[in-house]
Amino acid sequence: MLGKDHMSLSFLTALMVSLPLYLGQVIGSDILICFIFTVIIGSLLPDTDCNGTPLLYWKFGPLYYLMKVLVFPSTKFVLKFIIEKRDMCNLYSEEINDEHRGIMHSPAGIITSSALLTIFIALFLYVLGYFHIIYTFVAFLGFFGGQFLHLLQDTCTKSGVNWGYPFTNNLLRGDISTFRKQGEQVDGRLKEFQAILFSGIIFVIAIYSYSNKNFFIYLYPVIILISMLIWIYILWRANVFSEHIAAKTL
Ligand SMILES: [Zn+2]
Repeated sequence: MLGKDHMSLSFLTALMVSLPLYLGQVIGSDILICFIFTVIIGSLLPDTDCNGTPLLYWKFGPLYYLMKVLVFPSTKFVLKFIIEKRDMCNLYSEEINDEHRGIMHSPAGIITSSALLTIFIALFLYVLGYFHIIYTFVAFLGFFGGQFLHLLQDTCTKSGVNWGYPFTNNLLRGDISTFRKQGEQVDGRLKEFQAILFSGIIFVIAIYSYSNKNFFIYLYPVIILISMLIWIYILWRANVFSEHIAAKTL
């Protein structure tokens, strides 16, 4: 999936789950903006470790270099020590050439890299005197949430995601093409997914407008449930299935 698709689908999802908290006055506009912004960045992070020039480089250059030079190598270093059972030498060669089997496209990789990126930024802000514990926590949630959504989105593509990496060799993949041959149409389902998530946001605003303002926040679990159902629908529409990698020549 292309960077702009990752950005738009992650932005819409993040807005759908965080806007109710803002409308229900649980969080302020500062937290809302911090969360949405870090989710958008998070949705671009995993592809920094792949061939080519990712959108992160063009949009947020300093973060691209922070990821490339500091966060990814240290993530691999940390995981190498945590996971001793497997021959982790593969980590250093395999995933650089093969984006969707690598550590940066796995839950272990995105948790570790989100934590490390947050720590590096927090240290930097601390030195400058701008450190803030709440924003730091929200930024971690945003980086992790954005990267998690990236994995969900890549699961819909033909390349798929090995969610159990490096412990399993099962690829979950759909049938959406990331790259188009010349003259080929963009997969219409991407627009459909954006439209459904956008409708979800309109739905949230509609409920807020018509419900008792004091009662609105109690509907939050329902909104979370609906956004989860939307994502189950998206995975179903992308015809996601499980495949053993050993049987496949990548
Ligand atoms: Zn990816």
